[in-house]
Amino acid sequence: MSNTACVIGAGQAGCELALGLRRSGWGGPIVLIGAEPHAPYQRPPLSKGYLGEKSERSALDLRQAAAYERSGIELLLGCRVDGIDRAEKVLVLSSGEARRYSCLALATGGRPKTLTVADSERVESAGNLFYLRTVDDAERLRARFSPGRRLVIIGGGYIGLEIAATGIAAGLEVTVLEAMPRVLARVTVPQVSSFYEAVHREAGVDIRTAVAIRCFDFRDSGEISAVHCADGTAVPADMVVVGIGLTPNTEIAEAAGLAVDNGIVVDEFARTSDVHIVAAGDCANLPSFDGRRIRLESVQNAIDQARIAAATLAGKPQRYRANPWFWSEQYDLRLQMAGLSAGHDQIVLRGSPARRSFAMFYLKRGQLLACDAVNRTPEFAAAKRWITQGCVVDAAVLADESLPLGAAGG
Ligand code: FAD
Repeated sequence: MSNTACVIGAGQAGCELALGLRRSGWGGPIVLIGAEPHAPYQRPPLSKGYLGEKSERSALDLRQAAAYERSGIELLLGCRVDGIDRAEKVLVLSSGEARRYSCLALATGGRPKTLTVADSERVESAGNLFYLRTVDDAERLRARFSPGRRLVIIGGGYIGLEIAATGIAAGLEVTVLEAMPRVLARVTVPQVSSFYEAVHREAGVDIRTAVAIRCFDFRDSGEISAVHCADGTAVPADMVVVGIGLTPNTEIAEAAGLAVDNGIVVDEFARTSDVHIVAAGDCANLPSFDGRRIRLESVQNAIDQARIAAATLAGKPQRYRANPWFWSEQYDLRLQMAGLSAGHDQIVLRGSPARRSFAMFYLKRGQLLACDAVNRTPEFAAAKRWITQGCVVDAAVLADESLPLGAAGG
């Protein structure tokens, strides 16, 4: 009987899971299977430094090849898992090969949501339409970055705004088209959205909100030449990037009969509805520390949940209650977010948006739920701790910069 552990998906979570499994004492073979041809790499720089600079691909590597060798992890790259036979404990690979496993982890991540517009086939096949998820996407896009080119970004979320900032630094003319009434609407409050809209406009980005995409114009080459909005305006484009969210890669889990609901449903031990199979990272729908179910798209969650999943497979289960945190870099601004602000009844501002240095704290009956910090790492770090501890904080102290931050915590 095989004692092989297979991890499907060689991204941030898969890499951490495979290494964590070995660290947790798994003695048998470990196989990390990835559809991309690359060893696990970091995605955050793809919309930031890597997109703007011509740095080497190896700078993105999560680990050097030697680390996998030392841990006895076999990397099976450029190889897609097409099916899971749970009864036989066999994986069907795109190569036609079958792989036996004794335990299985799913770290399949997600893929960009695609546009739903008329003539979508023509739009999707345009050579100057881009999505940004993989290093290959980033390299194709950055090859087009030269001063004066007109970049239209559909979607004013993190990725769209980071690409906008990188585009401005590269001398592009940048327009952001956001369907909601404000940017970052899914992740933060109106005050923070307004701050980011002002920052981008000041940097030269043409930000248009509450804009629906109607259709596109094309050149004879098949490339998009303009984006038409429902309000009758048209934006000329040399390239178009779509950043409108993520679809979790759940198809193989669903086909194998695992519970799926906006992600592969897992418990606090990262176990799927088949307790012998775990899932972690962007593909998983998990219980958060406040009891709600969420799917998180962040490096922190990919790492933390992968460690929990590895411990579960190694027979040393530990509970995971995600206390999410995230960061985004745009221009000289480092945004760090902790917790989930939904349900807050009070917002406290410390610092000054005008000075590009502030933290917003979200409280419910005095208890700190979440914090968005711009160039304020001490506030972010304190908030993360207080949120985890369920602290009631002193709003008056938080709001008063003449008082030490530490005095606000429970
Ligand atoms: P992924 O990284 O998507 O890895 C999943 C892998 O599984 C993929 O390589 C995929 O090809 C493979 N796969 C899928 N199905 C199969 C199959 N059937 N067989 C084999 N392989 C398969 N997070 C932050 O916290 N901060 C940031 O600033 C930030 N910036 C980002 C910027 C960009 C441009 C992007 C794209 C993401 C950013 N993120 C950021 C999000 C973060 O990178 C992700 O949350 C993290 O990479 C998730 O890791 P994962 O392993 O769950 O998924």
